[in-house]
Amino acid sequence: MDLEGAGHQAIDKICDYLQTLEEGKLVPDVKPGFLREALPDNTPEDGEKFDDIAEDFERLILPGILNWQHPMFFAWFPTAGTYESMLGDLYSSSVSNPGFNWSCSPACTELEAVVMDWSAKLFHLDDVFFNSSRIGGGVMQTTASDSALVAVIAARAKYQRRHPEVPLEKLLIYFTTATHALGVKTGLILGLKCRALQVTAKNNYALQGEEVSAALEEDRAAGFHPFVLIATIGTTYTGAVDRIDEIGPITRNNGLWLHIDAAWAGVALACPEYHEACYLNGINTYADSFCTNFHKWGLVNFDASTLWVRDRSLLTEALDCSPAYLRSKQSDEGTVVDYRNWQLPLGRRFRSVKVWFVLRSYGIEGFRSYLRKGITLAKQFQILVRSDPRFEIVTPPFLALTVFRIRPPSDIQTDRSDADINNTMLNALNRIFHRRLSAKDLFLTSIDLDGIFCIRLAIGSQRTEERHIKKVWDILDSEVEPAVNEWLG
Ligand code: PLP
Repeated sequence: MDLEGAGHQAIDKICDYLQTLEEGKLVPDVKPGFLREALPDNTPEDGEKFDDIAEDFERLILPGILNWQHPMFFAWFPTAGTYESMLGDLYSSSVSNPGFNWSCSPACTELEAVVMDWSAKLFHLDDVFFNSSRIGGGVMQTTASDSALVAVIAARAKYQRRHPEVPLEKLLIYFTTATHALGVKTGLILGLKCRALQVTAKNNYALQGEEVSAALEEDRAAGFHPFVLIATIGTTYTGAVDRIDEIGPITRNNGLWLHIDAAWAGVALACPEYHEACYLNGINTYADSFCTNFHKWGLVNFDASTLWVRDRSLLTEALDCSPAYLRSKQSDEGTVVDYRNWQLPLGRRFRSVKVWFVLRSYGIEGFRSYLRKGITLAKQFQILVRSDPRFEIVTPPFLALTVFRIRPPSDIQTDRSDADINNTMLNALNRIFHRRLSAKDLFLTSIDLDGIFCIRLAIGSQRTEERHIKKVWDILDSEVEPAVNEWLG
């Protein structure tokens, strides 16, 4: 088959894969090293037929894929994958363009600037974050981790300009014990000290203003200079939302940059009914930078992290390197944005195409309906969990995330009294339960929450329907007894 034919066939195969996902295995049944064993040791000396290569993708690669788009995938947080977005990626690949400067591909830069403004409006961000404001602005990054790193670099540069006398080893990055690992990683990369402020069950694992004030007093007294705080809207563990309304005034009054990581939950700002729960007012008033990922719950396949900053000059002053070979007439005249100065690498993918395709195809209402559907399904699941005394919801559910665990049924025949069944025993039971679930055709991840073993159910696949929630429930229901029996030994 010629390559053009292979291209048409690829689209058919992709559609087949996605349409028949539910019939296949969700979790791959492979052992570490399976692919090395199956593949030759070297690149072929002479080129091979494309048909054979494409066939090997199906034969060798697909069996080793964890199917994130499967409707029974409820692990971590979802990674969206829509046809519209995949087609956007395909078109952007066709022009294979590293788009680092306006002049190296004007449409790459301009589409991104417009799509970032559309998105800022979709999420009801303040005008100052729009590219059209020429004050703040939005840029697409690979991941939320890159977004946080870039924000902290800008924060550090800003702080150092104001306090040139402070040595680097005295600078301190704040986040919390529930912040995604991106907090620690940012400190590692930049060689800066970090402090993870303790969040506890008492406040549902959300950071409060009080804790920030106390930490500031303590650290300053010890000679440190906290200069940035990474707050989270929708933590990875439990979906907790840090109190931006309390934290914001403190960071503002104390000269700390406030970066908000809303990698998963941020897209919910498209729905006005979640503005209060996500502290939209706090974001608009206090955030120096705000990030959410379209590639999590926003219908766009990986990668599509969106970062907005209140003052773009702080980003570009920290990251602008302009040797002669990167300069252009338009850059020198200051009439254009050169996105290479808003990020770490030079080259960048033309990601805005896929976001543009999705936003146009779904429209604001379609985007909201998809999110609301996931939240409604999560509520249906929560009703089932709450109605059954064998289960308990551990932390308050947020959006489409539920954190739960099983309790031993009250009628179990054991010589242990209820009071004897302590947390360690419950954890052992839940580990068994989770392991048993892992052998079924659904995928759920677990977390250790201050020593409590919990199971997370995050809904987000575009293909998940009510019948799948019913199916999850049936599996959970049927696995409790065998898990308890195994636990009892
Ligand atoms: N922030 C939160 C709250 C997350 O849950 C995750 C991943 O699940 C991340 C950041 C990391 O996202 P990325 O892979 O885009 O860096």
